Amino acid sequence: MVAGRIVNHRGIGMTSARTRERLVQRLQNHGIADETVLDRIRNVPRHLFVDEALASRAYEDNALPIGQGQTISQPFIVARMTEALMAGGPLDKVLEIGTGCGYQTAVLSPLVGTIYSIERVGALLRKTRKLLGELGIHNVRFRHGDGWKGWPAKAPFDGIIVSAAPRETPEELLQQLAEGGRLVIPIGPSGYQTLMAYTRHGDNFEERELGGVSFVPLLQGVN
Ligand code: SAH
Repeated sequence: MVAGRIVNHRGIGMTSARTRERLVQRLQNHGIADETVLDRIRNVPRHLFVDEALASRAYEDNALPIGQGQTISQPFIVARMTEALMAGGPLDKVLEIGTGCGYQTAVLSPLVGTIYSIERVGALLRKTRKLLGELGIHNVRFRHGDGWKGWPAKAPFDGIIVSAAPRETPEELLQQLAEGGRLVIPIGPSGYQTLMAYTRHGDNFEERELGGVSFVPLLQGVN
């Protein structure tokens, strides 16, 4: 198995079952209840998504730098967003904005049909595409682009998950939701963001606040 080979190559210490179990326990204590989501946190090798120098900290419940001024999301937030996205039932087509290092993508991958993932930083996307391939994750279509306008050619989506924060909810993303579809997105200025979940009912969008979060800003254009 390719993933196993990489794990061995980078040392088994930080990947020990006990270290991962401690992280799962912590997320449970903080209210993550969905077993399929907890199982993904247990099984996705997060240490492969960060720089080797930070690998020993990969199973702490913290955001960590991944280069290009970006971060890998905190496991609790990834779990919370995945749980919120999945709460309405099985999802076939999912749009992800802000691929980054691909950790959220890897957690979500076996739980949905196809992921359409957009990242504005080309160098990051190339690295992530390679890693996810090596981990045997193949149900992801990548796009180097600006996620503000979604991916109209592939819409509608059963779920949309956004890993960077705009000041206000982009109307284009709401319009690309299928009936009953769900958008999970942090909204607000740096330091004062709220995680929101919107569910589409015809032309109405049911709104739910999921708590305070801290994400990098959703920027304009590509890099
Ligand atoms: N999902 C990642 C977290 C990525 S951090 C994880 O699992 O850890 C947020 C990412 O959003 C960064 O990689 C950043 O480059 C990207 N981003 C910011 N603005 C964007 C935009 N307009 N379109 C696409 N990606 C964007």
